[in-house]
Amino acid sequence: MTAPLKIGTAQGKPGEITYGVFEGIGLPTGGSDDFPVIIAQGKHAGPVLWVTASIHGNEYTGILTIHHLLKRELLNGLRGALVCVPTLNPSGLRVGDRRPYYLKNQDPNRLFPTPLKKAVITAPNSLPADPEPLSAVEHSYQRLFEVIVETADYLIDLHNYSINSLPFAFRDPIGYHDEEDKGAARQLQLVLDGMLSAFGHTVINEFATADYLKRNLHRSVSGAVLNTAHIPAFTVELGGFLTVDPAIVAACCAGIRNVLRWANMLEDKTMEPITGVQILNPGYPIRRTAHPYAPQSGIVDHFLKSGDPVKKGMAVGRLTDIYGRPIGAEDGLIRSDHDGFVLGISQGAAFYQHEPISSLAIRDDNELLVPFLS
Ligand SMILES: [Zn+2]
Repeated sequence: MTAPLKIGTAQGKPGEITYGVFEGIGLPTGGSDDFPVIIAQGKHAGPVLWVTASIHGNEYTGILTIHHLLKRELLNGLRGALVCVPTLNPSGLRVGDRRPYYLKNQDPNRLFPTPLKKAVITAPNSLPADPEPLSAVEHSYQRLFEVIVETADYLIDLHNYSINSLPFAFRDPIGYHDEEDKGAARQLQLVLDGMLSAFGHTVINEFATADYLKRNLHRSVSGAVLNTAHIPAFTVELGGFLTVDPAIVAACCAGIRNVLRWANMLEDKTMEPITGVQILNPGYPIRRTAHPYAPQSGIVDHFLKSGDPVKKGMAVGRLTDIYGRPIGAEDGLIRSDHDGFVLGISQGAAFYQHEPISSLAIRDDNELLVPFLS
């Protein structure tokens, strides 16, 4: 068999679950914020699935999913290995914040490497910008990314979305540069689709247009692994943040075991049904959209909950002032411009003008194989 994996200080042992750390962000007061690493190494050689979680420090469901997934029984008949990192953001996790406190105004899930250059605005005769070294966080993610590229065959990154939202997996677009690598990109897309369908949850297409690049989603953990390293990878959203729903944890564990079966990593090939969570399967591809928006600042009384179908023109909520008096025409009713489903209700009840009050899953006819210009 192939040699057991070694990731940071975690040394894989055939038929065992082992623990260690990957050196993370050095601290001015000494020590470092390390990433915990767990290796579940099968007795037989096979592919390697990475499962990462909590790069947003207030998203906890992924951590519990990893804990529930890594039972000793999983080792029976496991080929290859699982590498799990319960948090990619230890400082955010300690204080319940999305970002590490030493990463000012940046989303940690937009810092993984990309070969694409940033769009640069140049003025005639302007000097090139001074080179800037990577921040400590970005540097540690780059070092970890190199190890992922060396060892991973597949990756799943675990997140949370919004209040009572349905759990779902994102299907990212796949970029190609020219006709020559379009074939390889299409092949990668086929493998990714197989992996997503084995996971068995609702699949939501990511923004397929320039928005994906503009929002730096190609630099998320799964976006970079997919589009920079060309390794099949997806992000999973596991309901609302700041909370853990045991039914969602159980469904996600079953989904990941199904991915292991699909990848020929488990001896037991019987796919588990995904139960206890709602799955949207309208028979056509769907994507998310932030909709509708609060027409004025106020308090929103939602009429619908996650998973409910929505029709164009349907009232989805009522906007009132703090006294409960309706604001605007039609007694404060807020209507949908789309047919679709409620994916999640935006966090909170008080909204400022033009903030989205929910996100919907709507029909998506976009091509997800797209040219990326570097
Ligand atoms: Zn997240």
